[in-house]
Amino acid sequence: LVEDSIRFVWRHGVAAAATREARGPLAVSASGVHVTDADGRVYLDGLSGGSAAATLGHGRVDVADAVHAQMTTLHWVSLRTFINEPSIELGRRIAGLTDAGLQTSFFVSSGSEAVESATQLAKSYHRAKGNPERTKFLYRKTGYHGTTLVGASASDNQEFRTWFAPLAPGFVELDACYPYRRPDGMTEEEYGDACADAIEATILAEGPETIAGILAESIPAALVLVPPANYLRRLREICDRYDILWIDDEVFIGVGRTGRWFGFEHFGVTPDIVTSSKGITGGYVPLGAAIATGRVMETIYGDGAATQAKVSGHTYAAHPTACAAGLAVLDAIEKEHLLESTARIGEGMIEAFRSRYAGHPNVGDVRGKGFLIGIELVEDAGTKAPFAKQLAVGRRVMDRAMEQNFMLRATGDVITLFPALVTTQQDADDMVAATCRAIDEVLGEL
Ligand code: PMP
Repeated sequence: LVEDSIRFVWRHGVAAAATREARGPLAVSASGVHVTDADGRVYLDGLSGGSAAATLGHGRVDVADAVHAQMTTLHWVSLRTFINEPSIELGRRIAGLTDAGLQTSFFVSSGSEAVESATQLAKSYHRAKGNPERTKFLYRKTGYHGTTLVGASASDNQEFRTWFAPLAPGFVELDACYPYRRPDGMTEEEYGDACADAIEATILAEGPETIAGILAESIPAALVLVPPANYLRRLREICDRYDILWIDDEVFIGVGRTGRWFGFEHFGVTPDIVTSSKGITGGYVPLGAAIATGRVMETIYGDGAATQAKVSGHTYAAHPTACAAGLAVLDAIEKEHLLESTARIGEGMIEAFRSRYAGHPNVGDVRGKGFLIGIELVEDAGTKAPFAKQLAVGRRVMDRAMEQNFMLRATGDVITLFPALVTTQQDADDMVAATCRAIDEVLGEL
């Protein structure tokens, strides 16, 4: 498969996209929640363009206008020579979105760079405190944090880990917190505590004085693992106890996907550093951000700092045009009340799947927040036994949906949907129907 896809991208000259995903139809245009291919087929987009970035849907004139205006005013100047207004304004707006104490955005060009910058900030924080030996990062099974060496080293993606070996040193794997797969007889809360206890045990085994941070999405998107309410609270306490920074990777779910600006807001906890990308510009232009709290910034840059901070400065750091797109996206989300509609319509979709599949022998779990929805298919919902891998049930559902002009994603046998925030009730109803059709057909053929 991998070899096939590499040959494919060679033939098509798309050398930057050498993954098996680079094998879809040839997209030529898109509007709202629909994508049209070269044969004129129109796909209903349940994935915000495929990887969750097109959160405002496709073809937004307001974002295009903002980009055009910025490009023809001041398209780019280097942060080494000038600061620029759109980046200052976007940083200010992001800081004001929540009351989490987020203060300063380091703008880069992708999610992977945002994650990388966040780890650099965390190391800077410990250096500034006179603890340069704190260099390790914890990450979780099933997690994904990008394709750079740091991203791959913090991701449970065996292909990347093998291809990119040797990986960056000092990345330590933790178990995922996977409520549906908790031990029998345990409540969600007990399980949340057990997961947190396991993190603390790993920290103690590694030596807290060697650990810089923990990379953890508030809601891991790939399998839609909405954690028990107490889990992130305990994680926060543990990080405070050992002065370890929680880097909340919100590249996938941040900026509205879950019906709040950021996923952590659902749990009443605040991270130390937040990463964002994808939804921050709705995918119109590339942008990522590592967003540090005032406490972290004060430690790194404040008067008492032991050493100067080092966060790599990219040529495109704080790109004015990208930041102008970000401002247009935040404006649209606010003006069109998209957080509210995402929460409401997303909840309705989750409810629709739950009632449709209540008691179904092969639907183990329906979970999610807002427009981040997961449906876990299993061989036996009673015992939670998974389907045999070689049946490739999830993959078949994904392929079947695509044959039927609907874009959904499968991670293993977890069917996931992450539609644009502009998805209307009618679109949502169509997406639920298309998802159920693909699932039902494939299950019916087993
Ligand atoms: N972190 C998370 C949680 C992601 O979902 C992704 C992208 N899927 C990344 C980091 C990497 O972002 P990018 O692909 O823009 O480098």
